This record gives sequence, C-alpha cells and structure tokens, in this order.
Amino acid sequence: MNLLKYTVISFLICCTACSSKIPSPVDSITEQNIIRDVTWLASDALQGRHYRSIEARKAANYIATAWKEAGLTPLPSQNSMYLPTDDLRDSPNVAAIYKGTGDTFVCITAHYDHLKPKRNGDDRIYNGADDNASGVAALISIGNALSKVTSKIESSIVLIAFTGEEAGFVGSQHFANNAPIALNKIRGLLNLDMISRGEPNTIFLEGAPDAPRINMAIVRANAQIDLHIIRNAHPDWLYRSDQAPFIEKNVPAVFFSVEDHEDYHRVSDHADKILPELATKTTQLVFLTAIDLARPVP
Ligand SMILES: [Zn+2]
Repeated sequence: MNLLKYTVISFLICCTACSSKIPSPVDSITEQNIIRDVTWLASDALQGRHYRSIEARKAANYIATAWKEAGLTPLPSQNSMYLPTDDLRDSPNVAAIYKGTGDTFVCITAHYDHLKPKRNGDDRIYNGADDNASGVAALISIGNALSKVTSKIESSIVLIAFTGEEAGFVGSQHFANNAPIALNKIRGLLNLDMISRGEPNTIFLEGAPDAPRINMAIVRANAQIDLHIIRNAHPDWLYRSDQAPFIEKNVPAVFFSVEDHEDYHRVSDHADKILPELATKTTQLVFLTAIDLARPVP
C-alpha cells in the first residue's frame, strides 16, 4: 500500500468512527428489552400477578433484581426496595432511587399487579400484558438507562412499582399516606398504566394543564421521540390509576395511557398483542422527561 492510499484509507476509517453516534442512555431502551420483560411478566407462570399471590411476589423480585443490577438503591432510610403495605398478605410496593445532587425527587410509577385467575374456562389467566406489564417493563428499562447516565442531575429519580392497583390503589394510597420521601419535594410524578395498545405511535396524556413544568419537559423530550400525544381527552382518567392519591395531596402528576381496547381486563390481554414500538417510544419519552425535570431549575 502506498503512503497516499494508506493516508486516504486511514482518513476514511477515522471519519466513519467519528461520525458514528456515541450511544446515549435513552438508546438502551429497546423494543427487544421491552418485549422480554412484558413476555415474562405476562406469562402464564405468573398467573396474573394478583396482589396477594406468590406470583406477584415473583414479579416484585424480578423488578427489584433488575433495579439492583442497574445499580439503583433502596429509598433513603429504607433497608430494602420492598416496602410493605399495612397488610402483610399483600405483595409489597417496590421502590428504588437513582440519586441526584439535591433534595428533590422525580417519580416514575406503574402498578405491577393484575387480576386473580378465573375459576373456570379454557383460558383462566388474566395475563395483563398491556395492563400493566407494559408499564413495569418501562420502569425496568428506565432503571437500566439511568445506570448509563454520566452527567449529574439535581433531583433524585425514584422508580416505584405499586402493588394492589386493581384492588383499589392499595399500594399507591399506602405510599402517599406513609411517604418515605417528602411529597412536597416531588417535582413531578409520571404514572404509566397501559402503554402498548391502540393506534400506532399514539399515547394519551392526562394532567398536563395542572402540571405545566412537567408538560414543558414532555414537549422538549418529545422533540426527540416524535410520538403523537393526545392531551386531556379523558380528564376522568386522572382518578382511575395510581396518580390519584398523589394528586389529592397536591403532588404534580401526569398519566400516560392508551384507550381501553377489546382485551382490557380480559384473559386475552396477551404479550403477543402489544405494540413494542409504542411501548418503547413512550418509555424513552418518560425517561427523557424525567431527566429534564431533574435538571437544576433555571
Ligand atoms: Zn392498570
């Protein structure tokens, strides 16, 4: 190889390497990982994750293990990621923190319980793939993405997987009433419940007018993600999932969800019916929103 040819080839190799994007934390949130976690959580082996079942505890362990592997830790003054409710028959809430430099918090939440198996029928198991294995898969992927964040953030990011939502917000109500973190230090709470069905690339957002700072962060994040966000089409939804006990205590909170669909609360809410791209992009949007909210206040 003559010198000129060598120089040109070296230059081209260098340019290719330089122009290839350095992966950012949000790129670690992939369809592959979302599908893996939804498939496990919604498998028949977990029997629908009813909040008083052994299988719900297996789901709780799966979440806590993933967060530990990502380097997240229990909340301040807690020994464990498992936070029991008042009734020891209930599976626990699971909560972990990625520490910021300040004393404020951004919370991302999703319930992991679903429904008890039917007494009879060919298919008795309520797999709850969209409701709400999809939201939990998001929490797991966000935990993993946080492990790749290198810049300092001000607010700590708290991930909470609630128990007993289907039984009447048992876990979220208990957390709000006995909060291990100061509720008035929460800059924003982002709740995900059903994020993987319906129209492609379309997610519903409730609560944004009452939480302008969260809304601005969502707008900035969505400039990168480009989801079709339908805002405030169902204000009543604010009281149909785990954000409700926090809104009642004046915590700024928003809710991401999809419309009810033909498999909602049916045994046919199966993993192979989810839209992985929608769930993944919604997860990326929520991750970027949380990082934006966690930055120092200008
Ligand atoms: Zn749900």
